[in-house]
Amino acid sequence: MEIHLDKKIADKDWAREAESIVRKCVHCGFCNATCPTYQLLGHESDGPRGRIYLITQLLEGQPADRQTRAHLDRCLLCRACETTCPSGVKYSRLLETGRHMLEQQQQRRGLDSLKRKMLTAVVPRRGIVQTGVNLARPLRQLLPANLQSQLPIKGKNLNRPETIHPRKMLLLEGCAQSSLTPETNAAAARVLDRFGITLLTESKNGCCGAVRLHTSARETGLQDVKQRIDTWWPDIEAGIEAIISTASGCGVTVKDYGHLLKDDPEYAEKAIKISELTVDLSEVILKETRRLPPDPGTQKGLKVAFHCPCTLQHGQKLNGQIELLLQQYNFQTLPVADGHICCGSAGTYSMLQPALSRQLKVDKLEKLQALSPDVIATANVGCQLHLRKDALVPVLHWIELLDSLA
Ligand code: SF4
Ligand code: SF4
Repeated sequence: MEIHLDKKIADKDWAREAESIVRKCVHCGFCNATCPTYQLLGHESDGPRGRIYLITQLLEGQPADRQTRAHLDRCLLCRACETTCPSGVKYSRLLETGRHMLEQQQQRRGLDSLKRKMLTAVVPRRGIVQTGVNLARPLRQLLPANLQSQLPIKGKNLNRPETIHPRKMLLLEGCAQSSLTPETNAAAARVLDRFGITLLTESKNGCCGAVRLHTSARETGLQDVKQRIDTWWPDIEAGIEAIISTASGCGVTVKDYGHLLKDDPEYAEKAIKISELTVDLSEVILKETRRLPPDPGTQKGLKVAFHCPCTLQHGQKLNGQIELLLQQYNFQTLPVADGHICCGSAGTYSMLQPALSRQLKVDKLEKLQALSPDVIATANVGCQLHLRKDALVPVLHWIELLDSLA
């Protein structure tokens, strides 16, 4: 696509990077076919090609109106368009730039501004989320069903192994996950213990930056990123083998630290190192399973509908891995139609765009439950909690299934 950068930004690295991304787009529109918002709304500007056009206008210095923001806000940042694009257009980087430019130009007002301030103030702070959970737990029966479904489930095994192995990896505890689904990281620690790996917990808990970065609070998001680097650095210097993420939404962000801080003289090198060390839990378990295959007599036989989060399949390009693992451990994975389409959770999207998010969830649950699974499994706390609200069967993190075989 042709583009002529506005003279005011033509010497900026970020603008030149955006320009080169735009130039790769050949306007074919293939991406629209897999874009959830384009499929739901049918409007060119609610699809990737139209959004690229809007961002190009911004980069060329043309004035943006409120509609431009509405179209960019409706994007889930699911990156299905990147998987589809034959020209390798890095749409998410472009959207990041477009949204940042808009934030500089237009002030958010009213309810939209308030919601964003609340989300970026509350969700990344584990202490606040945990206090909310502690206060809500005794009132569980009085809460509406959709709020009850977001509280930690009673009776889950939260024990972690005490054995210390020579092989050590650092576990990203996560902000929301550690309070709302603490069973996930406990199960991950037990499964890795069977492979002779000790999971170290972070010395200080906190958000990886994903929540604020994806809610257009770039500066505070980058502060979160730097705080995480400072927290993890002593373990990295001590020689941990890897940094493990059990939530694909966090994993995709941490793998991007190198890019996010590439211009920061103090943190750039450390950020690259951290991105290189970060792996999704499934990557480690697959590798270890090759080394120590499961007992062929393992019988669990549950029917599992797996929802692969966008951050895993489109963001980290790890599609199909977890289904493969589950099959190796004798779970019966069911085919799920339209697996490439987002469930509507998308970080804070379900709270900022509730109508679109709800529609995507209804569609997703219909596909996931079409063949009557015993359970739905996924790999990201956001998707898990979002689907759990209305699912007819339990919605688990997949590692709980492997843990159940012990
Ligand atoms: S598929 Fe790629 S090249 Fe084609 S319009 Fe979409 S972003 Fe542009
Ligand atoms: S990131 Fe997802 S919602 Fe946004 S344009 Fe791409 S496919 Fe559509």
